[in-house]
Amino acid sequence: MQRDSFPSDLPTGFPASNPSGLPAGSLRREAGKTDLGHSDIGHKAGEGQADASGPIGLPDLMPGDEFLPAFLQAAEEKAGGDNPERRSQSDRRNQSEGDRRESERLPLRRIIGTYEDPEAQVASEVSSPGPLFVVIGGVHGNEPAGVRAALRVLERLAFEKPRFQGRLVAVAGNLRALERDERYIEDDLNRHWTLEAVERVRSQGSRADSPEDRELREILAVFEEELKGPQERAIFLDLHTSSGQGAPFICMGDTLQNRHISQGLPIPLILGLEEVIRGSMLEYLGEQGHCALAVEGGQHTDTRTVSHHEAAIWCALVAAGCLREEDVSDFAQQRDLLRVAAGGLPSVVEILHRQASVENDGFEMVPGFHNFERVHKGDLLATDNEGEIRAPLTGRVLLPRYQGQGDDAFFLGRRVSPFWLGVSARLRAMRAERVLHLLPGVRRVLPGSPATRYSDPLQASSKDNRLEVNTRIARFFPAQLMHLFGYRRRTPMQGVVIFERRCEGLPWG
Ligand SMILES: [Zn+2]
Repeated sequence: MQRDSFPSDLPTGFPASNPSGLPAGSLRREAGKTDLGHSDIGHKAGEGQADASGPIGLPDLMPGDEFLPAFLQAAEEKAGGDNPERRSQSDRRNQSEGDRRESERLPLRRIIGTYEDPEAQVASEVSSPGPLFVVIGGVHGNEPAGVRAALRVLERLAFEKPRFQGRLVAVAGNLRALERDERYIEDDLNRHWTLEAVERVRSQGSRADSPEDRELREILAVFEEELKGPQERAIFLDLHTSSGQGAPFICMGDTLQNRHISQGLPIPLILGLEEVIRGSMLEYLGEQGHCALAVEGGQHTDTRTVSHHEAAIWCALVAAGCLREEDVSDFAQQRDLLRVAAGGLPSVVEILHRQASVENDGFEMVPGFHNFERVHKGDLLATDNEGEIRAPLTGRVLLPRYQGQGDDAFFLGRRVSPFWLGVSARLRAMRAERVLHLLPGVRRVLPGSPATRYSDPLQASSKDNRLEVNTRIARFFPAQLMHLFGYRRRTPMQGVVIFERRCEGLPWG
């Protein structure tokens, strides 16, 4: 979309199709664009696939712009019933009119929009092209706040046209689930990104796709197309919301490049979620060496949640070097919004326990828990068909589940001292992990060694970044120590745990 077709007095609805009639690929790399929403990359996903229906499904599945207002209004009304900080009726009416105006502009399509600064592009011929910054919203279909926040940022960029290093792309996650306001259709898309599943989707014809296979295929096609660009580094910011009330926070694999971005966001950092859940999109992207962070913005339909996400995007864009603080006119307010929302909470929490849940297990969280709430060992947290579920340790509750779908019931974590983060940064900078295998009870897992039978077959052949820790010998050897060196627990077996070193990616600076 050329700039002159995108007036600065923003339209209230963007056309769902490519209005210029040009081949979509030729639009993307034109200089000087804010491109709010076209789905050409989804089409490219179909290339090489024997799918007679042509481009992968977006056009026929994309609801018209009139769809979203009703969908978001329904969500708003649903929230009104149990929102403890209920506003007055007139406030609510005004707010929901504001939301409706905003939601009228929400394009429910794979690429929500893009932004590049034309002058920076010209300058980039002599300097760095800056990073590729990808925002993803709605990986869970009942979490549209991230889509709305991305759109707010894109609209403001389009209007203010600040200097911008690199390229911003905003992507919608589970489109079909967003359409239904459900977390997913058949499988949780954010548990779908194991290497095995990605390989399976790549190798199977698109006709064999489950709904979430199809989402993954299309999203992956967008990522891969974007990663072909000139930017040497990619940052993925995945925006989520939760069913329980609570402050915003960041989740990520603990790599130094992720820390660089997270330090720009004054909200708690949660480490270790990717050790206890498998197949998140962030885990996959992190494994590919990219910066990958998720922000939990707050309760699904709380109106503050969109603002938290928006502030997180601005702060992360500045931390990534895409924008300078002085080029975001209200940057201090955006940062303060997050700081206030997270006031009094620990800056780093490590996940130590995941309570799993299976379908029809009768899981029910005791009402009233919110993110970061302190609990003591033995406190009653939930019930299921087998009886009471009590806290196995003293710590803080994270992501208590108050909704029907999902196989995570809740998590428990504990504060980590920033001192240890400093220590681990120094250890990693020194590559001190190279001597870890000299410790008693620790040995390297070499490709082809018997220990690889515990490993993912797709990874075992090529990697020598694994350690086998014999827990009988190294019994005083806590997982936290391995974390300091940049390892994460992968495969606990009887007497043995395999740790794998995280991909640290490119250093900053
Ligand atoms: Zn989510």
